[in-house]
Amino acid sequence: MKLDATDLRYVTTDEFRVLTAVEMGSKNHEIVPTQLIVQISGLRNGGVNKNLGSLAKRNLVARVQNARYDGYRLTYGGYDYLAMRALSKRDSMYSVGNQIGVGKESDIYIVADSEGKEMVLKLHRLGRVSFRAIKEKRDYMGKRKSASWMYMSRLAAEKEWAFMCVLHEHGFPVPRPVDHARHCILMEFIDAYPLRQVADVPSPGRLYSDLMDLIVRFARAGLIHGDFNEFNILIRRDTGEAIVIDFPQMVSTSHLNAEMYFNRDVQCIRKFFRKRFRYESSIYPKFSSSKKTGEGQEGEDFRLDVVVAASGFKQRDQETLEEYMNTVSNQEPDGSEDEEEEEEEEEEEEAEEGKEGERGGGQQSIDDQSQHPPPDSDSASDTDDA
Ligand code: ADP
Ligand code: MG
Repeated sequence: MKLDATDLRYVTTDEFRVLTAVEMGSKNHEIVPTQLIVQISGLRNGGVNKNLGSLAKRNLVARVQNARYDGYRLTYGGYDYLAMRALSKRDSMYSVGNQIGVGKESDIYIVADSEGKEMVLKLHRLGRVSFRAIKEKRDYMGKRKSASWMYMSRLAAEKEWAFMCVLHEHGFPVPRPVDHARHCILMEFIDAYPLRQVADVPSPGRLYSDLMDLIVRFARAGLIHGDFNEFNILIRRDTGEAIVIDFPQMVSTSHLNAEMYFNRDVQCIRKFFRKRFRYESSIYPKFSSSKKTGEGQEGEDFRLDVVVAASGFKQRDQETLEEYMNTVSNQEPDGSEDEEEEEEEEEEEEAEEGKEGERGGGQQSIDDQSQHPPPDSDSASDTDDA
């Protein structure tokens, strides 16, 4: 699905009312009955049908004929539209450019404000991956279950926003948060290569210790990134500085499995440096000596996990999201396995070619990734709740 910024200007007031009514109705209905849309929107019957027709034509809603009644559901496109409209009404963004990333659970676009300043829009897409199986396992939100892809995507965005704000405020190397709405986050565009694409660095040892220091700094502040890998570390094109992104899976150092998450982050970096840069060090941080040991210590003297908890992202939301993420990673062939396979392939290739450092387009600009076809989100959401 292509995001279309021109659409932001061509939705009429009545269409917008109808679209909002569909969103409201989907809190309690998997398929929102047309009659309910009429009621919520407060418009006349005929008008509502006409507007629903034009919204459906643009894939903002989808008509669903069901055994008991006919109705509509909000599509990813419709939800995207509502979020982007909110952001553009607040003058946070003005136009949409290329897609630069397709994650398993997000789409990333370059967008701009009215002065043409580039930013990154991250749209969370939880539930794109087989939501039905998850639904069967857990009843996450009782009656709200029907809107689970929307709900989970919004939770992920809220969590990411809360962490990004707190980390940025406390001087961690993360993108500057700009705004957020529903399942979307708007942030500073970092002119950088993901570490994954970097074939060579001037000093691997220096970068290695910077990254390990960062893991320790997080821990001193009560936090573990939880997905600290070569995809989520960006290397600035100009300075070579490492910037960390992607926070929906961050956990507190008080988490039951904190040590496991901490070690996993550390091992991820060690393994990557071994394979990519042939760099190995016997020095790496241990959880017991890294986490915060008390007030008045050197280094980070505060608990950011506590700050985030106080910022409005509730413990219960945190648990809901974590449960979802665990279910997904237990179910899907997990990311680390994919990586492992890929890396093995890379090694084989390398052996064949008998040379090093030709891996993965180290000089590729991130714009090159915009060649990836956007996923067909609508058909994905069909399987979610059809
Ligand atoms: P996901 O949750 O899908 O992994 P990420 O937040 O890790 O999403 O972003 C996916 C990719 O998009 C990154 O690997 C990076 O290439 C690009 N990206 C994300 N945020 C930014 C940013 N602020 N500036 C530049 N590129 C970014
Ligand atoms: Mg990522």
